[in-house]
Amino acid sequence: MAKANYVRVIIDRAIHRELDYAVPESLRGRIGVGSRVRVPFRDKSALATVVALPEQTDARGIRPIEAIIGEAPVLTEQLLELGRWIATYYCCPIETVMRSMLPQVIRRAEVGWKKQLFVQPGRKIDNDELEKLRKRAPRQAELVEAISRLEMPMRAAELLRQTSLDNQTLRALVKRGLAKLREEAVVRDPHADEHFIATSNLVLNEEQTRALNEITQALEAPENARPILLHGVTGSGKTEIYLQAIRATLDRGCTAIVLVPEISLTPQTVERFKGRFAYVPDAVAVLHSHLSEGERHDEWHKIHAGRARIVIGARSAVFAPLKNLGLIVIDEEHETTYKQEEAPRYHARDLAVVRGKIEKCVVVLGSATPSLESYHNAGTGKYRLLALTQRVDEKQMPLMRIVDLRQERRKEKKAAILSEKLSQAIADRLEKREQTILFLNRRGFSTSLLCSECGEARNCPNCSVALTFHRHPAVSGRLSCHLCGHTAAVPKKCPDCGKDALIYYGFGTEKVESTVAQIFPKAVVRRMDADSMTRKEAYRETLRDFRTGKIDILVGTQMIAKGLHFPNVTLVGIINADLALHLPDFRAGERTFQLLTQVAGRAGRGETPGEVFVQTYTPFSPSIQFARHHDFAGYFQQELEFRERCDFPPFKHAILITVRSAHEGRSKLSAETLKRRLKEALPEEFILGDATPAPLEKLQGQFRFHILIRGEAILRLSRLVRETLDKLPFPEDVTVSVDVDPYQLL
Ligand code: ADP
Ligand code: ZN
Repeated sequence: MAKANYVRVIIDRAIHRELDYAVPESLRGRIGVGSRVRVPFRDKSALATVVALPEQTDARGIRPIEAIIGEAPVLTEQLLELGRWIATYYCCPIETVMRSMLPQVIRRAEVGWKKQLFVQPGRKIDNDELEKLRKRAPRQAELVEAISRLEMPMRAAELLRQTSLDNQTLRALVKRGLAKLREEAVVRDPHADEHFIATSNLVLNEEQTRALNEITQALEAPENARPILLHGVTGSGKTEIYLQAIRATLDRGCTAIVLVPEISLTPQTVERFKGRFAYVPDAVAVLHSHLSEGERHDEWHKIHAGRARIVIGARSAVFAPLKNLGLIVIDEEHETTYKQEEAPRYHARDLAVVRGKIEKCVVVLGSATPSLESYHNAGTGKYRLLALTQRVDEKQMPLMRIVDLRQERRKEKKAAILSEKLSQAIADRLEKREQTILFLNRRGFSTSLLCSECGEARNCPNCSVALTFHRHPAVSGRLSCHLCGHTAAVPKKCPDCGKDALIYYGFGTEKVESTVAQIFPKAVVRRMDADSMTRKEAYRETLRDFRTGKIDILVGTQMIAKGLHFPNVTLVGIINADLALHLPDFRAGERTFQLLTQVAGRAGRGETPGEVFVQTYTPFSPSIQFARHHDFAGYFQQELEFRERCDFPPFKHAILITVRSAHEGRSKLSAETLKRRLKEALPEEFILGDATPAPLEKLQGQFRFHILIRGEAILRLSRLVRETLDKLPFPEDVTVSVDVDPYQLL
């Protein structure tokens, strides 16, 4: 490492400035770009990251750094470059970006390796002494004999368990010098208790072979390679291609990152990767939000030290500190969970492409339903498109049947949960001992409590949404807000008009579960959503029971829509396809199309062909009709035309500014002032919207206003927005957030 005299750092607290410090003699040669250090700041200490080693500094009154944290730099120069790009593009302070790039346990100095005590023999004991010990302290004698038989150091706790002796006895031996204790770091492996069966490459079919060849060719000359969009229908063998491409990457001495949506980071997925690379010990590290701090620390170091060569993880794994990166795969690249909904509001797919450029590595985006953005990029030649049009097993795509709920309603005079057709199909599967998945993207029992006299609904006092009624024990028969968690008792009478006329309205997964259980009393019905899966193991257990056939019907939210593989599922029911369609969001149609296609992909992966029932009040909407015919190209053609006509992405970039405050008037005023300033600052080419109340006007007690800006030159727009905001003093209780390429328009 360079013998720098000075370092330039970014401290963790946001001060929007980089600071110079001197390196004291004792620390020279141990610091590099990307090192973590502790520095004096004002009258305290602060943690910071070294971003440069300047030869000279103009700073006056320069102070020395206090300490180095950890042995080696935690960030590479390439990751720092990526960090700077994020700050510029996403209009966000670099400190905030740094916080996202390093897990908290790595940033904070004090958490470290888990230490455990190991026992090994001490000085030799002769027979005389042993005899004496047997008489005076038989338990010590027993333990010393056990220790003398050890071939290698053993965990103290394990030894004491095996000999049924206690710690006091061990301590006494240590005092006599007859045993030695040593502290050693042990690695916490979240998958330590699982066994992975080694698998080998499958023989690829023609389409797969062609796709893999393209990827391996790109690996040969990564500096010229364009990102590859692998568009393959569900079950076309994309994952098998990733596995073989990673193998080729490792063979070239490089490393790989695989990003999957958090939701599909299931044991099944991890198993597939760990199994294939079982021949390299420790090859695969897994990063996701359910790791304990300790596990995250250890997985991160396994990557940082170069032991792990493949990282599978959710969104933030795009920052995995791998060196010599050869390949980044983004599976289900259209998934909205790749977008981070707090600052820095990055999109992991887009970062993967940028990191690929910086590190000169190959980037593969895979999906059965590519995002419009990526598909468009493939159309313009920015990405290279590879298509897999057949399912591996040559099974047919499932048959999609549309159920018109308007007709059902005419028959039944009330909103149907299960149409007659869907009910019959379920009964049929139960008879044949096949399984069913029922999908509804809404939790709870009844989605609102209305007064049939005055028409008032019970709304959340903090948010502009109705409260949902839950039966589930966690909220035990109360009303609850899905946005802020506020709960309330169910009133006996309408608090607005005092009449005894309250009715439950709308339904969620809980009600579907109980209705289905009523209609099919003999069937085993389980529900899988955020309410029923609060225990860490619940998810795994339910999936296992479903796989082994203990569950007949699985009801759930998007938790069950993605990436799961169940050969015996031959029926999928979409209880209400219209939920996403009615959101005030230009992507609503795209999401519905993707959702239908993905959910449908769950049906008929085994021997029997699958059937999908889509219940809807808008049977002729394009997203439903195109999904029904598995016509991806057709859907995207018409959707692209719509987006172009309306100046929406992917033709224009968008920036959404949200202004919020607990004080409605100040929020509104600030938003309007900001809009005026933006009008002065932005050239004509940018389309500047008015300051308007957000669709979700009130959230967690804050009144929210939106300003939407669209334009092509996004870096320029980001800079102008940042400059305008920096010049404008907002009242203290007003918060402004900037979302570049937003996914949430509520
Ligand atoms: P996707 O990721 O496109 O949904 P997968 O890679 O999961 O598809 O493949 C679906 C199933 O087909 C998996 O069980 C996989 O093991 C199997 N499979 C994939 N490729 C082949 C192949 N070439 N020959 C036989 N089976 C395959
Ligand atoms: Zn609320």
